[in-house]
Amino acid sequence: MREIIVDSAMSFSEALAEKEIPDNIRKTLSLVEIPHYSFDGKLHQGQLVVHADVAQEIRRIFDRLAEKRFPIARVIPIVAYGWDDDRSMVANNTSAFNYRPIRGTDRLSCHSFGLAIDINPALNPCIQYDGEVVPPGARYDPGQPGTVTADIAPLFKSCGWEWGGDWHNKDWQHFQKTV
Ligand SMILES: [Zn+2]
Repeated sequence: MREIIVDSAMSFSEALAEKEIPDNIRKTLSLVEIPHYSFDGKLHQGQLVVHADVAQEIRRIFDRLAEKRFPIARVIPIVAYGWDDDRSMVANNTSAFNYRPIRGTDRLSCHSFGLAIDINPALNPCIQYDGEVVPPGARYDPGQPGTVTADIAPLFKSCGWEWGGDWHNKDWQHFQKTV
């Protein structure tokens, strides 16, 4: 059997604790186990909260990332970071569901429905409309392992996900799906 380092072993209710989430959204969410390679070259067990409609394909996409040995630092539901996207990004944490608006707006983000995923955010920053880079000091270097590039993006895009790296205002960490 493969040895696996368990980074996250929450129950569904633990993964959604201490956050007001509308019931109609809560009941569509699913907690998915995500085996992945980290930067130590070892297999880790993380978890993602996603919309139940995409749970299967997300599992498959992350299996493909693991087959490719694409390193992902950690995959821990954002409750572990107090639902604070900034703290999660600085920790280079990959996460999906968070009930929150799009940064700098009052519109709900696709993350609010478990239909967006941010991958290795410290390596794949988001450039704000005003030019601010988040997380602060992050630099996009496609040569670095763990960087989301045009090599990786098709795994998601072939399942109908949009990549923020294709947008005018770059958000390289971000994939989202409209279902
Ligand atoms: Zn995002």
